[in-house]
This record gives sequence, C-alpha cells and structure tokens, in this order.
Amino acid sequence: MTAGAAFSLPALLGAWIDGRPCAGDGEQWPVFNPALGRPVSVLAESSASQVDAAVKAAVTAFERGPWPRASVEHRQGVLRAIQAQLLRHAEELAWLECQNTGIVLRELRQRHLPRAAANFGFFADYIGQSAGQVYRQTPGYTSTVVREPAGVAALISPWNAPVALSSMQIASAIAFGATCVVKPSEQSPLAVLRMVELMHEAGLPPGVVNLVNGRGPLTGEALVAHPDVRRVCFTGGTETGRHIMQTAAGHLAPCTLELGGKSANIVFESADLGRALDGALLGIFSNNGQQCLAGSRILVQRSVFDDFVERFVERARRLRIGDPMDEATELGPLASQAQLQRVLRYAALAREEGGRVLTGGAAIPALGPGFYAEPTAVLVPGNACRVAQDEIFGPFATLLPFDGVEDALAIANASRYGLVSYVWSDHLPTVTAMTEGLRTGVVWVNTPMTRELRAPFGGFKESGVGRQGGAACEAFFTEEKVVTVPIVPPVLRRLGGQ
Ligand code: NDP
Repeated sequence: MTAGAAFSLPALLGAWIDGRPCAGDGEQWPVFNPALGRPVSVLAESSASQVDAAVKAAVTAFERGPWPRASVEHRQGVLRAIQAQLLRHAEELAWLECQNTGIVLRELRQRHLPRAAANFGFFADYIGQSAGQVYRQTPGYTSTVVREPAGVAALISPWNAPVALSSMQIASAIAFGATCVVKPSEQSPLAVLRMVELMHEAGLPPGVVNLVNGRGPLTGEALVAHPDVRRVCFTGGTETGRHIMQTAAGHLAPCTLELGGKSANIVFESADLGRALDGALLGIFSNNGQQCLAGSRILVQRSVFDDFVERFVERARRLRIGDPMDEATELGPLASQAQLQRVLRYAALAREEGGRVLTGGAAIPALGPGFYAEPTAVLVPGNACRVAQDEIFGPFATLLPFDGVEDALAIANASRYGLVSYVWSDHLPTVTAMTEGLRTGVVWVNTPMTRELRAPFGGFKESGVGRQGGAACEAFFTEEKVVTVPIVPPVLRRLGGQ
C-alpha cells in the first residue's frame, strides 16, 4: 500500500467477484491523480473471460442465492446497513474519489458522499411502500400484477462523479432484487471498488454486486454483449450510449441511457439577478465543470446582458483554483490530460468561430503538472457554432443574448441534447411559458441542480433513453407478471369429451 495523507491507496486494483477481491487477468493501466498529473496506482483489467466469471456469479446469486427471494424487510435492513457503512467511511471514500478525479474534497463531502449513502436509504424506503395492481373488471376473474426482479444488470458509469453515479445504479438495481456487475470508468476505479467492498462488510450476500475494471471497448463491451445480462444501465457519453444500445440489442436487453447535455441556463430581466448569477456560476463551475447537467449555455435577456456578463466574468476570474484537497478550493483540475486538451481545443475553436474569449481558455502551468484549466467564458456569435452545440465537459461557459420568451425558447431548444434547463425569472407568465416550451427532461426554476429522487430523471432527444428515480427504476429493474385466477371455477369446453 502507498501511504496517503490520511488513508492509503491500493498499489494494484482488480475485480470483485462473488463476494471477494480478485486479481485482474488482463493488461495493466496507470490510475492517475489529476491534481498531481501522475499515476498513483495501477489497474489490472478484466478480460472477457473474467467478465464472464463475474456475470456467472451474478447469475448464480440470482437463480440460487438468497437476495432475489429475500423479504422486503430483509433487503431494507441490508440497504440501511450499507447506507450507515458508507456514512461511517465517507471521509475515506471522499479522499479516494478526490485523489482519483480531482473533484474538490468539499464538494465530495457535502454533496457526493451524503448522496451516495442516501441512495441506499431512499430505495430502502421506496420498496417498503411500493404497491401492486389488481384487475377485477373481467367478470369471475382476478388478475394480479406482480413485479419480479429482472435478472442480472450491467451497470456502467463514467469518471466525472463515480461514487455518486454508480451508487444510484447499484442501489436501484439491488433494491428490487436484481443482481449486477458494475463497470466503473477505467480512469476512476478507486472509490467505487472500495464502496463495493464496504457494501459486503455491511452484510450484502456474495454475488449480488460484482465489479469488473477495465477499458470500455474491452471490459465494458464484453459485459454489455454478455447474453446473460438482462438489463443495461449506462451513464456516459452520447456516442458510447448509441453503441451500447446496439450491442445490447443483440440479446434484446433493455437499456436506460443517461447521456450528455448542453443545457441552457436562461436568465430573464425579471429574475433576481444576484441569485441568477450565483446559480449560473454554480451551474457551470461546480464539479470542475464536468457534469452532465452543467448549465453550459448561458442565455441572458439583452436588456441585462452586458451587466450580467461583466459580473459573471469578474466572478469567474476570482474563482479559487488549486489543490482539490484544500477546503478553500473552488475549482480543481480536470480529470485527465485528455480532458484538459479537449477544453483547450474548444477555446481555440471558439476564436476560429468568431467567438470572444472573455476570460480563460488556457492551462495553468503555474499550478504544476496537474490538469488545470482556467475557468473560461466565451461570447459566441450565435447558437449554431460548435462551442455552443458540443458538450465540452469542462469549466467552459458560452454566453449569448436573447430577446423575450419566444427567442429564448428557440435558442434553448436548438440543441441535439435535452437533459436539463434552468430558468431564472420572478414573473409567473414567463416561467410558465418557459416550463411548457422547453424540450428537456428536467426544468429547474430559480434553483440550480436540485435532484428529487422520487421523480424521473433523464433526458429528451440525444440526452438519454429511459429515466432514473423511484418508480422508473422499479419498472426498469423488474419484470411484470400477470397472475389470473378465477373466482369460481369457469365452465370449460370439454374438447374431445363425450
Ligand atoms: P464514456 O461514454 O466515454 O464512458 C462512460 C463509461 O462507459 C465508462 O465506464 C467507459 O469505460 C464505458 N465505455 C466506453 N465504451 C464502452 C463500450 N463500448 N461498451 C461498454 N462500456 C463502454 O463517457 P465519459 O467517461 O467520457 O463520461 C462523460 C460523459 O458522461 C459525458 O458525455 C456526460 O455528459 C455523461 N454523463 C451523463 C450523466 C447523466 O446522468 N445524463 C451524468 C454524468 C455524465 P472507460 O472510461 O473505462 O473507457
């Protein structure tokens, strides 16, 4: 083990199969600390045959293990024990996640880890309340609809919020009795693997949650293509999602895809402009700008545009950038060298497209070899340019003026994405017209990023397929079965009788 500041990093990471850690059987890859810009651990990839072993463990746990057959009370007890265990180890998980992703420790402590633990508590509560259906309209018969766990789920998550996103996938799958194989991003396996270990320490039976590590096109592909996988729950990029759905179609496994976004953050002159400014900064710069629901297209009504932009740029320049372990830091490094280069390429493209880079657009070598980028704000010539259309996935805001509700809707909806949108206005008719006209899965009014776990979360258009949240997860991770019973024995035609 390599010594860390407070906890320790594993020297070598592998898989977790049938309740036990298990050495990876494939190639080895470095695991980076993006703040230091150098590897801090090594990941041994799972080959297709190890993926097969993980799926087989999940199949055995599903067909013969106690979990899918356990009472709701029993499953609730284990889910709550996991919640408590994650809270007990929240500091360690936050530390590991910070080492591996560069997300600032304060955000991990305040947002990601409480949320990860709460996911298990939420689904424990949910399964205690879920109701079934009974139909008695057909005279003489009662038909009952029962939900049964769907089987083995493949759960694939990205690197931008590994523990928060994979905990939601895992909690929602196992709460309804499914078993699963988890595949985190090969860039960010540290905290997710430890979380899976902690879940077993809390009493989860072997084989219910298995984990494989490795590259998407190899380990992830083998998992999605496995014929015994009955559900695929994927969070990641739109192009990968498109490919995954095609692979899963080979064995007709239903998918939920939580994909990318280029969300509009729309500020009207009727808004509380101070709050709208705070919200716009949080919407694009929290989580180091790497979040699917980032408010990356900031649209501001023309009458207040210049003033708003000036204040936005001034605040962006004052962001405290640096070591994500430091409590005072507001913006940490990007997750990888590739992500840093991507952001810098888009800054260059913005200039080529006729945009004005108002602030940022460069790396910060003064902070050392870590993958630091300046917070960037670009005045774009129009919504059609690529920096206003592509998901950049970094601390990179585009700014554009609009005239009135119709114009705001036209610009906001002119995107191939449709994940979330933000509306800032205290004028009710404006708010109503916007919430009705926006083509996104979520509309946040006068608030940034408030997630309601009971409600369905997901995107329109190329931002996703399906939803996550209470009832949506129940529908996805279960199969419906109809049991029809006559109230009195029905008269049967006696085929072949005398
Ligand atoms: P990717 O799509 O590249 O990767 C996501 C996951 O899929 C990773 O674990 C990756 O593995 C894996 N993967 C890649 N190729 C395959 C494949 N052929 N088969 C199976 N698995 C595969 O996304 P990023 O990691 O770049 O994450 C950023 C994206 O995630 C952004 O577009 C963002 O918007 C989106 N996102 C969406 C959210 C939502 O809720 N809508 C939330 C958060 C992020 P590996 O990395 O090891 O190659």
